[in-house]
Amino acid sequence: MIKSRKLTIKDCDYHTLRNLENNGKIRALVLKGEKIVHIELICPNCGKYSYYTQEWKSVSKAAKYRFKTKCPKCGFLIKIAKLRKE
Ligand SMILES: [Zn+2]
Repeated sequence: MIKSRKLTIKDCDYHTLRNLENNGKIRALVLKGEKIVHIELICPNCGKYSYYTQEWKSVSKAAKYRFKTKCPKCGFLIKIAKLRKE
């Protein structure tokens, strides 16, 4: 989905790919200048694939998580912890 748009990391303000428990996976991408995050998710709870967008909010430096999102299929809450290199 994201690949097909021929986006590269250079076009992004933020990009992350994380493995979640139960073979879940999440990829999040914010295009330069945009205030929405594109999310590709394989839910660790229901195992279903979703592609969706949500508002991209800034967080304080003290915040432990960069963002939180909910699986659109089952409502499972996923928290993405900050990484230093991001
Ligand atoms: Zn789910």
